[in-house]
Order: sequence, then C-alpha cells, then structure tokens
Amino acid sequence: MSTPGLEGIKSIEELDLFEKKVFLRLDLNVPCKNGKIVDDTRIRGAIPTIKYLIDKKCKIIMASHMGRPKTKEDFPKFSLEPVAERLSELLGVDVILLEDPMGEGIRGLIPSLGNTKLLLLENTRFVSGEESNSHQMASHFAGLVDAYVDDAFGAIHRAHATVDALPRLMKAKAVGFLIKKEVEMLDKIIHKGEHPIVAILGGAKVSDKIGVIENLMETVDCFVIGGAMAYTFLMAQGIAVGRSLVEKEKVNLAKELLHRFQKRNKKLVLPVDHVVATELKEGVATKVTDTQAVPADLAGFDIGPKTIELIKEALSKAKTVVWNGPMGAFETKPFEKGTFAVASLLSESKAFVLVGGGDSVTAVEQAGLASKMGHISTGGGASLEYLEGIKLPGLDALKND
Ligand code: ADP
Ligand code: MG
Repeated sequence: MSTPGLEGIKSIEELDLFEKKVFLRLDLNVPCKNGKIVDDTRIRGAIPTIKYLIDKKCKIIMASHMGRPKTKEDFPKFSLEPVAERLSELLGVDVILLEDPMGEGIRGLIPSLGNTKLLLLENTRFVSGEESNSHQMASHFAGLVDAYVDDAFGAIHRAHATVDALPRLMKAKAVGFLIKKEVEMLDKIIHKGEHPIVAILGGAKVSDKIGVIENLMETVDCFVIGGAMAYTFLMAQGIAVGRSLVEKEKVNLAKELLHRFQKRNKKLVLPVDHVVATELKEGVATKVTDTQAVPADLAGFDIGPKTIELIKEALSKAKTVVWNGPMGAFETKPFEKGTFAVASLLSESKAFVLVGGGDSVTAVEQAGLASKMGHISTGGGASLEYLEGIKLPGLDALKND
C-alpha cells in the first residue's frame, strides 16, 4: 500500500471479498460502567469497515477483546453483550453474540449469516489461547473463513491469537479502513512530516517515552518536554527539582539524550517555570516559580505561564506536530492549565497535529478540542509503539510473503 507502514500489506479494497466468509478483528474495547457503555467512539470507528463488508454480501464473524479478565468470575463484567446491542442499533441489523466461539456450534451458524445478521464472538480473552497466541485457537478460526480483515488498531501491538497467529495462517488478509487511516496519519509524522516538526512529550515517566525520543531523534526539529518527565531532564542539567517526580536511575540517560539533542542541533524546550505545591491534591495552595529551580520542599505539578509562552513560540512556525503525554497532573485541579493551554495552542495551529496516547487524548477531549486536531490516534499503546518504530505483530502478520 501507498503508506510506508503498510508496505506489503493489502487494504480491504484490494481483496476479492464478494460473498466471502470473513473474520473481522475489531477493537471494541469500550469503557463500560455497570454494564452500560460510557463512550462508544471505538464502536463507531469500526462501522465503515463493517458496512463495506455488508455491501460485499460477506458472512461476517466479528471478534474483539474487552478489558483484562483474569478469572472466570470476571467474565460477566467483561462481556461484549452491551457492545453487540450497540452495534445492532448503529447498523440496524441483528448482531448475534456467540458465547462459545471455540465450540462446534459456530459451524452451523455461519451459513445463516448475511446482510442483516452478523456474528460477534464473545470477548476473545475469555479463551486462554488468545493471550498465549495459541496456534490451536488460530487454526480453529482459520478453518472457518475465507478471509481475514484486521481493523483492531488498538491491538496491533499485541502478539495475541486473533491478531497474530490467525492472520499468519491466512492467505487472503488485509487491513480495514481504521488501521489504514491510523497508519497513514502516523506516517505523516515519522515518514512524511513537513518541517519544522515539533514533538511535544510529557506524562509521568521518561522511561515510557525513551523509545519515541530515540526513534524521532533524526526526524523531529524541536522537542518540547513537559510533565513529570521534564524533572529528570532538569536534574540531569543540575537544576534543583525539589520534591518533583524524578526517575533517578534515568538521569544519566537524560544527560546522554541532552547531549544528542545538542550534537544534532535540535531545539529543546524544557520548563522554565512551574506550578508548585506541597502535594498533589485537589484545591491545594499553589505558587508559580520565578525560576527554573523548584524549592526544596515543593514539587512541580504543571508548567508555568513563561513555559507556555516558549511553547507558543516553538509552535509558531511548526508545520507538523506530534503530542504525547500531558504537561502536568491535569486530572487534579488546578494543575490542568498547562495541558489545556497546549491543547488550545494546537487547536489554533495551522500545522498538521497528531495527538496520541491515552491521557493526552483524554485531556484534549476534556478541553472540548478533539475535533480541532488533525488526527486523534485511538490506540494508546499501539500508536506509541508505532512512533517508537517497533515491529508490531499485528501488522507483521498481515504481510503476504
Ligand atoms: P499518555 O497516556 O498521554 O501517554 P502518560 O501516561 O505518559 O501520558 O502520563 C500521564 C500522567 O502523567 C497523568 O496521569 C499525569 O497526571 C501525570 N503527570 C504529568 N505531569 C506530572 C507531574 N508534573 N507530576 C506528577 N504527575 C504528572
Ligand atoms: Mg497514560
């Protein structure tokens, strides 16, 4: 396909799917509370691919994981029942939830499927073989269908049976519209980004983002580092960080990265002022520091206004921006300001802006600015690993060799 990340992989439109039996792996792992869906974004995201297969008169067997069930007692909590209902509402067709996908009953059901009757397998993680990438589980499904379509972007970094082992057994395999779009958008950053490219990285830990920094080192022109991870970098520069969150064992690595930024002439923006407090608590008394140093008895929980100005300046000429990780502990008021200010700057930017990562996406949604971004990546872990340049099992398994 045209985008580098999907080289050697077919798109759903390139397969002959007319009247075929298709195994469709989706990511329908939506947040639920008391059996009710709280946010159906992921279900809506799957609709275009399902509709395409309906138009092609396919017999559709859908599968998805949901949450992390550990024991059988967890199963009712992680059932896809509400998902089946919602799918049925959105598509206006019958969606049958099959409780025992590994049983022989499935064979008898498939011939009855059609335009108005779709099959959804119960949570793939209820079968122990899913997470162990079981060949037996994979061959059971491979024996039932003619083709495999993967549209579970949020799961492509997992070597699980319905994402990895199964497509490896199939000849006719492809990505659906969601994965196609996600990879195209991520490739806009890592392969085709228009310069200057700015990466805004934040969040809790340097260790979570090292892979992204390393992989983007050559591509990105300017790194903005905020959030708690900034304090490890400030400590590496010998700046006092008080009681802020620091990964002491990563200070040397931060030093090395600083050295590499400098050697490559990369622009680097670190916080020059902070919103500090004694503890991370709603409504706690806060101060903004005048300096880059944090007083000994306080911790930095957000970037300050001078830092926001520096970020504004760094963004003013940007053509491409990737944002991963909040600028502060935005879940606790009043430490949301830096993160929301960045969200607002990005919403006004003329650059192509991609937001990835679970918490950063939540922040952008809370700020009501999601629709103003170039692309919001729906798969937290998957998009991060893609940006890290790691080989993703779910994509690798789709290559025809
Ligand atoms: P993402 O999910 O977007 O990749 P991370 O999971 O890496 O982001 O980090 C998000 C977390 O980092 C949030 O829970 C936020 O509260 C925390 N965080 C950010 N800045 C700070 C800070 N200065 N002190 C403590 N926690 C912080
Ligand atoms: Mg997170």
